[in-house]
Amino acid sequence: MSDPITASIETVGTTLDAVERALTRLREGTYRTCSTCAAPLDPEALGADPLLEHCSAHAEPR
Ligand SMILES: [Zn+2]
Repeated sequence: MSDPITASIETVGTTLDAVERALTRLREGTYRTCSTCAAPLDPEALGADPLLEHCSAHAEPR
């Protein structure tokens, strides 16, 4: 079930979900804050990963 193309499509879907969440957060004005605790995100971390959603305390392992 996990051929390379299926895995690639899943990766694209996961990334698309993250982009849509980032766009929603931009519209709502919460883009620069942690989704869990609303702490401001590190601008450098956000620069390195524009789809970052959580502060270092709530970062999900990738
Ligand atoms: Zn947090």
